[in-house]
This record gives sequence, C-alpha cells and structure tokens, in this order.
Amino acid sequence: MESSPNITIIGAGLIGLCSADALSSRGVNVTVIDARPGPCEGTSFSNSGMIHPSQALSWDTPKPSPSDLDAARVTAALAKRSRDLLVDMTKRLGLPVRPGGCLQIFKDFETARSAQKSYGEIGILSNIVIDPIDSFGRPACQFPNDNSGDARAFGCALEMDLRARGVSFIYGAADTDVRHTGAGFTVRVSDQILKADHLILAAGIQTASLLSKFEIRMQLKAVSGAAADFVLPEIIDDLPSCPVMDTESRSAMTVFKNRVRISGGWGLEDPASLVECWRDIAPALMLRLGRPRSTWTGVRPVSPVGRPYISGSSIPNLWVNTGHGHMGWTLCAGSGELMSELILDGRRDSRFAFSG
Ligand SMILES: Cc1cc2nc3c(=O)[nH]c(=O)nc-3n(C[C@H](O)[C@H](O)[C@H](O)COP(=O)(O)OP(=O)(O)OC[C@H]3O[C@@H](n4cnc5c(N)ncnc54)[C@H](O)[C@@H]3O)c2cc1C
Repeated sequence: MESSPNITIIGAGLIGLCSADALSSRGVNVTVIDARPGPCEGTSFSNSGMIHPSQALSWDTPKPSPSDLDAARVTAALAKRSRDLLVDMTKRLGLPVRPGGCLQIFKDFETARSAQKSYGEIGILSNIVIDPIDSFGRPACQFPNDNSGDARAFGCALEMDLRARGVSFIYGAADTDVRHTGAGFTVRVSDQILKADHLILAAGIQTASLLSKFEIRMQLKAVSGAAADFVLPEIIDDLPSCPVMDTESRSAMTVFKNRVRISGGWGLEDPASLVECWRDIAPALMLRLGRPRSTWTGVRPVSPVGRPYISGSSIPNLWVNTGHGHMGWTLCAGSGELMSELILDGRRDSRFAFSG
C-alpha cells in the first residue's frame, strides 16, 4: 500500500487552513507554517464576514468585459460550492452561521435595478428591497443566497480541530527557506528541516515573493482595506439583521456576536473615511456606536485575471492557492477542496490555472 504523502502548506490564513482541512480529511500528513504567531493573523484577521457568492465579479473592473464575466461565472460556481461546504464546516465546529443573505445599498432605484441586471448575467439571484432598518431606507439588492459568519473565529476553531486531527503547525517562521530537491522539497524553518512531497503556497500577498525563490513570476496586486470595530450597543432593535454593503465606498456594516464592524474600502489604509461614510448612511446608529474600540488594516491578494489561482506550477508538486481578493472567506472551503482534488486525484481544472 502506498504511504500518505507529506504536504507542507505555507500560510495559516483561511486559504491555507481550509487546504489543510481538505487534505487531512483524506489521510494526508500536513504541516502548516506561518510567519506570524498564530492562525488568521494576516488578511483573514478582520474581514467583513460575508459569505457572498453574489460578489464574484472582480472589483477591479467597473465595466466588465466578456472575459471578466466568464471569470465571474467560474468564481461564482466555486463560491456557491464553497458556501455550502463552509456552512457545514462552521456548524461542525459549533459556530453560528447567519442565514438571511446580504444587502447592497444604492443611491437610487435606477442604479439598483441596473446592478440587479448585471448580477443576473452571472447567474446571481437578487431582489430589490427598501427597508428602514436593514437598508437604512435606501434602495438595495438583497442576495438571499449569501450568508455571513465570523471568519477569524472560524479559522481559530478550525486550527484547533486540525491540531486534534494530527496536523502540525509551526508559527513565528519568518525566515522560511524553501528548496526544490528533485524528489520533493526541503523546507528550513529556524533550526528545523522538513521534507515535503508537495508544497502549497497559500501565503496571501506574499505568495509572489515565495514563488520568486523558484524563479517563477506571479502578478498579484495588493489592495488594502480597513476595519473599525465598535462595542455592540445595549439596544439592538435598530441594527441591520444581515451585513449591508455600500456600493460607493466598497464597505460593509456587519453585526457580529459581540461587536459591530465597519470594514472594506478598495485601496484604503485608514478606516476613518469609512466611518465618516457610514455616519452619513446611518447617522442615528453611528451616533450611538460612538468611537471605534479598535481599528485594523489588511491587504487583499488580487489576481489580474479576476479569479483566484488554485493550481500547480511549472515545478512538479509545487502548488499555489491565492489571489482570492475580496472573496477569500467565501471561497476558502471550496478552494481547499479543489486543491486536494488537484493533488490527490490528479484532477485537471483549467478554470483557476496559473501559467507560471
Ligand atoms: C477589509 C476586508 C474585508 C473583507 N471582507 C470579506 C468578506 O466579507 N467576504 C469574503 O469572502 N472575503 C473578504 N475579504 C477577503 C478575505 O479576507 C481574504 O481574501 C482572505 O483573508 C485571504 O486569505 P489568505 O489565506 O489568502 O491570506 P492571509 O489571511 O493573509 O494568510 C496568508 C498567511 O501567510 C503567511 N505568510 C506570508 N508569507 C509567509 C512566509 N514567507 N512564511 C510563512 N508564512 C507566511 C501570513 O503571515 C498569513 O498568515 C476581506 C478583506 C479585507 C481586507
């Protein structure tokens, strides 16, 4: 009988953890390495929590071309599969998933209807609604098939579950040296040397610099976003019942178990302007929320092709799982599953191919 392969994953964000989950559930020996002190300390730390197949279209293309629409359709298909897997995984980990969709608000009905038409072109169902609380009295597209949940809580719970299932984690590994050795890979972390049959780079925006060590070039754009967390107010009757996205600022208000978060922005490092924008959208609520209790900035890894790279590379057994942009929470479970099928079943899938 063939022994299970040893697979090393660089990156303990949502994408690396879900890749570890899919591989370990099929009996593979997995080691996950991260430069930071724990799981989900990178871009996966403080996102908007939306599991939103609805947003499969690249945020980099204001006027999508036919190839952008094709990329969005394949991303949406993976996102729908991923959402279903994610809901099951989240329940298995004993965490809440919030059904009830997501809302996207617009300045007027005409813009909302035009957006609804575009969503329809990539197979996304939406309803036009207006509600004094959920959409702050503004016209909105409601996406009934979206969900939401706390991505970091999920990542931390998944990491503990993976440990219990025998997956090894090495943290604080900022100086990892990776080499292709013919039969596999040698990974040197501080004073440890690991041998791996396969190496998966799920290092978010840093994946490109890790690939450059193998003389492979990957174009990834770093698009920053920010978050401001507020204490959950005592009176919660006027909080929206699902995440609300604002089209203009590319940001969202999401109510979590113990906090309200305003987060997003495309190329934005300071959440102050987002907070200002939400003071305009929801003045009474924002007055009650007061000042944020914490703020954060993160960088999304965005591929120029409008869909992630979940793929092999020109080096045998060197794999990449990155470039999920604004969709990494939504796509993590499906991306992990696909990665495991590419490696273990020899599945060929050109939809998320990386040509380097
Ligand atoms: C403000 C904001 C809001 C968002 N909202 C949503 C949302 O509502 N829904 C959604 O689906 N997505 C959302 N996203 C996107 C989502 O959060 C990201 O796509 C996702 O977190 C990316 O995960 P990752 O695992 O690829 O990257 P990361 O979480 O960054 O993980 C990569 C890991 O690799 C490690 N690493 C890097 N280099 C090395 C190295 N050389 N050695 C060892 N370790 C290394 C890093 O320390 C890091 O922990 C949002 C993003 C932002 C910024």
